[in-house]
Formats: sequence, C-alpha cells, structure tokens
Amino acid sequence: MIEFRTVRKQYDDGTVAVRELSLTVPAGTVTVLVGPSGCGKTTLLRMVNRMVEPSSGAVLLDGREVRDSDPAELRRGIGYVIQQAGLFPHRTVRDNVATVPLLFGTSRRKARRDAEELLERVGLSRELGKRYPGQLSGGQQQRVGVARALAADPPVLLMDEPFSAVDPVVRAGLQQELLRLQEELGKTVLFVTHDVDEAIRLGERVAVLRQGGELAQYAAPAELLAR
Ligand code: ADP
Ligand code: ADP
Repeated sequence: MIEFRTVRKQYDDGTVAVRELSLTVPAGTVTVLVGPSGCGKTTLLRMVNRMVEPSSGAVLLDGREVRDSDPAELRRGIGYVIQQAGLFPHRTVRDNVATVPLLFGTSRRKARRDAEELLERVGLSRELGKRYPGQLSGGQQQRVGVARALAADPPVLLMDEPFSAVDPVVRAGLQQELLRLQEELGKTVLFVTHDVDEAIRLGERVAVLRQGGELAQYAAPAELLAR
C-alpha cells in the first residue's frame, strides 16, 4: 500500500507542483493518476521512489515512511517504467532485462534464463531477445522496459506514460498485456497518463488531478463515468 499524506511539492523556482494532496493506493491494484500536462503526476509518482522529496507531508510504503529508507534499498522494491524505455543501446534485449539481477549477484546463466522467461511473459520471442534495442519497434521496446522493471521482482511498479509514444493499436495490446500481467503477478501498480480513456481502461481506481497539483476526484472508473 502506498499512502500520500498531505504531500506538497514546491520546486526551487517557486513552482508548486503538488498541493496538500492525500491519497491511498491499495496494494495489488492498478491505480491511475490522470490529468493534463503539468498537473503534478510525475512529481507525485517520483515521491514514491524518492527521486523527488516532498516539501511537506509524507509518503508511506507499507506503513513505513519512504524518507526513512535508504534510496537504493527502496528502489530495489520499486520498478520504474518511463515513456522512452531507456534501454541500453549496446546491450542485447535479453541482457538489458538481465542487467539488474546481474548487478545484485544473480549468476549470468540464471539471469539470462530468467530474462528470456520474462520476455516471453511480455510477448517477446527468444529471437528478439538477441537483438539490440534499436532493432525493435517502439512497442516492442516498451515491452522490454516492462520486462526489465519486472526482473527484480519488485512488489511495486511505477509507470509514467509508458505507452504514450506508441500508436493506438499497439497501445491497446500493451494495455491488455499489462492487465494480464497484473492479474498473474498481483503487483501494486501506480500508472500515470494524460489519456482519460487509458485511465478508465486500466485503473481499478483513478485519481484525477487538476492543474496546480490538486486532487479533483478519486474513484473507480464506473463511478467517475456516472458523474
Ligand atoms: P505532469 O507529470 O502532470 O506533467 P509534473 O509533475 O512533471 O507534471 O510537473 C508539475 C509542475 O511542476 C509543472 O508546472 C512543471 O513545469 C513543474 N516542474 C516539474 N519539475 C520541475 C523542476 N525540476 N523544477 C521546477 N519545476 C518543475
Ligand atoms: P561492448 O560494450 O563490449 O563494446 P556492445 O555490447 O556495445 O559491446 O556491442 C557489441 C557489438 O554489437 C558491437 O560490435 C556493436 O557494434 C554491435 N551493436 C551494438 N548495437 C547494435 C545494433 N543496434 N545493431 C547491430 N549491432 C549492434
């Protein structure tokens, strides 16, 4: 479970990105933050893995304030997927996925085998695993980004507009894939998008933010639509 308790973020230049916002994200669900560009979604998301520190208020992960955790330790339990998949161009797809487990001492053989299994989970063949990121389509690269985030088997996944750079047909496929993975793996997913349709399709709970970093609504999609 992720809790934002009256968090506020004012950047050094005076911009207030998030304003006294409180929100509880239940464990094992996909919760979506949706709202127009600049409304503070990314800022809020990054408070969870301490890429951003709130100016006031607190963020708790499973009842513990994240500021009391060592950032590196914290991030081992939190996968992070962004729009540009951020893959290492000079490593094969499979080795991109295996990177983090290798860093933490998994044997090369096991890391590669696990990577192949994860790639299969996100719908990529073993053959594609041997290619370099530049030889994959945008949608395939996003799948690799998801596989890489899953490789450390984190209980929490932060996803920041992961599918917005791909065309609508591919995006629909990726959304399906994410829902299937979620059902299978039961991760706590916090997903950022500016696309209301995507929010409604993916979110078990949807938090609607408005300009100025305030929470406008927080509800299940059916309730949002009923208003
Ligand atoms: P969103 O993800 O909803 O587009 P962001 O969280 O990226 O919103 O940004 C919220 C507001 O904070 C915007 O006005 C943005 O320009 C501002 N902002 C984001 N990062 C910084 C920063 N490092 N310094 C100053 N202002 C920032
Ligand atoms: P190293 O890090 O040991 O220098 P790399 O992993 O960067 O090796 O690259 C291994 C080989 O794969 C190099 O010969 C490199 O030129 C080649 N290579 C890297 N990216 C691509 C790509 N997108 N398409 C084809 N070959 C590539």
